[in-house]
Amino acid sequence: MSVITKIAAGEVIERPSSVVKELLENSLDAGSTRIAIDVEEGGAELIRVVDDGHGIHADDLVLAFANHATSKLATADDLFCVRTMGFRGEALSSIGGVARVTLQSRAAGAESGAEVVCHGGDLSGPRPWNGSPGTRIEVRQLFYNTPVRRKFLRSPATEIGHICETFTRIALARPGLHLTLRHNGKLVYEVPPVSTLLDRVGLFLGRDVRDKLYAIDAPQGPAHLYGFVADPSCDRGNAKLQYLFLNGRWIRDRALLHALQEGYRGLLMTGRYAIGLLFIDLPPEQVDVNVHPTKAEVRFRDANALYRLVLATVRNRLAEENLVSRLEVPKSGPVYAFPSEANGPALHEPRVAAGSPALFSQPGFPTFTRNPIVPANIAGTTPSAVAAEPEAFPLTEENDAAEAAHSNGVVQEAESPPAAEHAGDVKAIQLHNAYLVLETAEGMLVIDQHALHERILFEQIKERVAAGCLESQQLLIPEPVDLPAEQAALLLEQREALAALGLGIEHFGGDTVIVTRYPALLGKRPPAAILRTVVDHLAGKERLPTREQLLSDLMSLMACHAAVRSGDPLTPEEIAELVALRHLAADAHHCPHGRPTALLFTRQDLDRQFRRI
Ligand code: ADP
Ligand code: MG
Repeated sequence: MSVITKIAAGEVIERPSSVVKELLENSLDAGSTRIAIDVEEGGAELIRVVDDGHGIHADDLVLAFANHATSKLATADDLFCVRTMGFRGEALSSIGGVARVTLQSRAAGAESGAEVVCHGGDLSGPRPWNGSPGTRIEVRQLFYNTPVRRKFLRSPATEIGHICETFTRIALARPGLHLTLRHNGKLVYEVPPVSTLLDRVGLFLGRDVRDKLYAIDAPQGPAHLYGFVADPSCDRGNAKLQYLFLNGRWIRDRALLHALQEGYRGLLMTGRYAIGLLFIDLPPEQVDVNVHPTKAEVRFRDANALYRLVLATVRNRLAEENLVSRLEVPKSGPVYAFPSEANGPALHEPRVAAGSPALFSQPGFPTFTRNPIVPANIAGTTPSAVAAEPEAFPLTEENDAAEAAHSNGVVQEAESPPAAEHAGDVKAIQLHNAYLVLETAEGMLVIDQHALHERILFEQIKERVAAGCLESQQLLIPEPVDLPAEQAALLLEQREALAALGLGIEHFGGDTVIVTRYPALLGKRPPAAILRTVVDHLAGKERLPTREQLLSDLMSLMACHAAVRSGDPLTPEEIAELVALRHLAADAHHCPHGRPTALLFTRQDLDRQFRRI
């Protein structure tokens, strides 16, 4: 293969998910109604896409791998009104140049099919192939002939995460399509065809969000904007659930996402992001999609008009719902109705045994007044197993980068004791052993003690795991835990992720797992109980979580267990410390499950309610 082809391949094919994207788009262009995707080892070993589209004629099979060969544009002018997903004729030639590809196809109406093989750009075939109508393409050993690029592939978990995202974008754009995705033989997604966009959206965003979506529909001249925006109470810590589609294709467009976010102005706290799925249909001549090889970025003829359309549509739709700022006092009825715990991920909070109050002091964490409660058989404290290679856990990838950068600052502050001026002069009282009420400059703040402590611990754990310095303690006498065989296997499969969190487990034989190391901050909580909670969580997952997702879940699980609970009485000093630590959290407004940690009743609200103004 020539150098030029290799460079070109690099532009279109960056990683396994790019292959999946290109192959899926080809299947869509072929009018497929059913597409099955099989991936092995995150796509590094195999990506197979089988569709029931119109197929490729035997005579054209070899052409499909030719550079800039496309069947989708008849004339150069067509480039200015593209109606298909593909049109550059680059994908198959690029993929064929950097992998071992077998392309098999039987055109609709043809009596038999044919196959060609392309290994690193070397074509052989066509040979007869006896398959059902449609196209079957297998891409093996991506980048096998460009070892440096192959080496740069991330872990299968990371790569499959990207593939899931690509898959999701296509599934959202085409509700009528039947799609399946398997990874290493395990079903990751089975997406049946549905008649409404809402059904498809609900599948990916979950019931809770589905029930809180507001439909938008704004035809404007030749343009049409439609889709869904979620109630502000469904806000998120990043913009990952903001999707933008143009003429059935997922696109990236900072300006339009900004318009979406602007539509929520006043309804979201800073650092929180709306959920929204915006579909824009435009006559093809109004937009240039030939800006970037992956076609993810486009150029609109009238970008300003679109910006205004999105902003006005979102804003008006939310206004229709009569949404007021989340922390405003309603006119009548119960003061606040916030999403209950049932709406969060199913992480239960078992009560601690009586006599063991909250773990208010964790080794290495900002000091609390209580003495650390440490398991009896602990030998010594050393950093967790992965201390030497924090790189192994890419917590700072993409969208998380900003968040991580933020929490970096946070923990630096956390190294020094909490600011005395906060701890000292705060006037807070505890109510019902669950809430802390205090006076602030703006008004009156009510804090959920568990939610706030959990949030603070979560950020600290996250920071420490990223830096590889979460304390874990070697158990002098490893603790055996008996589990059902499949649960033991599930746990052992995740050994590495658990080790990153300071939880060392080993197979003891039979269905017994032994705990060899234990995160220091979990202190006296019985290892068996924690292990069971972790395994419940893993078993409850429908989809294969990505490595980052799993770590994040486990970190919030740990934070939840280590945090002071609702019902725990606190001393005035502990109250003051917890309130002071609030200033250290990057997002002190929400617990890791997204519930608010505090509610502010402004002075003005109070005055208004008491008819003083
Ligand atoms: P493009 O999609 O830009 O035309 P590709 O390199 O992706 O270029 O594909 C080259 C050609 O191969 C397409 O134009 C199409 O004719 C044919 N092709 C590829 N995949 C399929 C498929 N799944 N079904 C039918 N035809 C296909
Ligand atoms: Mg294509």
